[in-house]
Amino acid sequence: NADAAMYHAKSSGRNNYKFYTADLNARAREILAIESQLRHAVDRQEFVLHYQPQVEMSTGNIIGAEALIRWNHPTLGLLGPLHFIDVAEERGYIVQIGNWVIREACRQIAEWHAKGLPLMTVGVNLSALQFRHQELVGLLQDALAEYQLPGSCLDVEVTESVIMDDLESTVQTIRAIQAMGIRMSIDDFGTGYSSLAYLKRFKADKLKIDRSFVRDIPGDQDDSAITRAIINMSKNLNMQVVAEGVETVEQWQFLAQEGCHQVQGYLLSKPVSAEAVEPLLRQKCLLPRLE
Ligand code: C2E
Ligand code: MG
Ligand code: MG
Ligand code: MG
Repeated sequence: NADAAMYHAKSSGRNNYKFYTADLNARAREILAIESQLRHAVDRQEFVLHYQPQVEMSTGNIIGAEALIRWNHPTLGLLGPLHFIDVAEERGYIVQIGNWVIREACRQIAEWHAKGLPLMTVGVNLSALQFRHQELVGLLQDALAEYQLPGSCLDVEVTESVIMDDLESTVQTIRAIQAMGIRMSIDDFGTGYSSLAYLKRFKADKLKIDRSFVRDIPGDQDDSAITRAIINMSKNLNMQVVAEGVETVEQWQFLAQEGCHQVQGYLLSKPVSAEAVEPLLRQKCLLPRLE
C-alpha cells in the first residue's frame, strides 16, 4: 500500500511527491508510535470498550450491545480499532488484547446487573488468531465463571474468512462455544470470499449484514436485492439477521418492510462509553424519530 502510494507519487511529479512523502511520513510516525506503545497498553490499562446498542426492529427493545475496543494512546489520543488491530495481530499482541476484551465485557455485564439492569448480551469481536488459539474456549469459560454469568451473556462475532480458513477445526471450536450457551454471529456477512456451504456445517445464531450493503439502500437496486436476499436466507435457515451501519430513516423503513430482525447504527446510537450507554439500557427501548 505504502509502496503503491510512493510509486504513484513518484510518477506524478515533484509537488505530489512532496505531498505524498509528508503524508507517508505522518503515517509512518503514527505506526511507530503505535508499535512502540502497544506492547504495554494492556498492562497500563489504556484500552476501553465502547458499546453500541442492538435493537429489535419490531419493538425497539434493546436486546444487546456490541463491544468495540478503543485505545487511549498516551500521545495520539483515543484511537479506533482500525488504527491498531492489524498491528496487534502482526506483532502477536492480539491474543492478550482479545482476552482482556472478553474479561472486561463480562466484568461490565456483571456491573450493570449488580446495578439492577437486566442481564445484557454483549457481542465481542474475535480476531483470526484469537479464534484459533487453543485456550479460547477455556478463557471464555473462566471469564463467565469469574463473573457468574450464563453463556447467553456473550455473543462472539467472527468473519467468514476466519471461519473458512481451516473449516474443520473452526466447526469444532464453534460447537464448543455454542455448547456453553454462547451465541455465534457471522460478522460483515457477504464481504468474504467464501462459499455459502459452510452455513451447513454448523448453526450460526446470527448473520450481520455488512454496512457496505446497507449504505445505499433503498436507492441502489443491487444493494437492496442483496440485502433482501440475505434477510430471506437468514430466516429460512432459522438465523437471526442484523443490519449494521443503519444511519437513515429510509434504511430503517426498508429493513423493517423486509422483516429484518435487528439493527445497529448511528440512527439509533453511535458506540459510546459504558457510562453513556447505561441510560439507554435503562430506558430499554430505542426507536428512530420517524419524521
Ligand atoms: P465491526 O465488528 O463490523 O463493527 C462495526 C463498525 O461499524 C464499528 O467500527 C462501528 O463503530 C461502526 N458503525 C456502527 N454503526 C455505524 C453507522 O451507522 N455508520 C458508520 N459509518 N459506522 C458504523 P469500529 O468501532 O471502528 O470497529 C471497526 C472494526 O474493528 C470492527 O468492525 C471489528 O472488526 C474490529 N474490532 C472492534 N473491536 C474489536 C475487538 O475488541 N477485537 C477485535 N479483534 N476486533 C475489533
Ligand atoms: Mg462486529
Ligand atoms: Mg461488522
Ligand atoms: Mg468490520
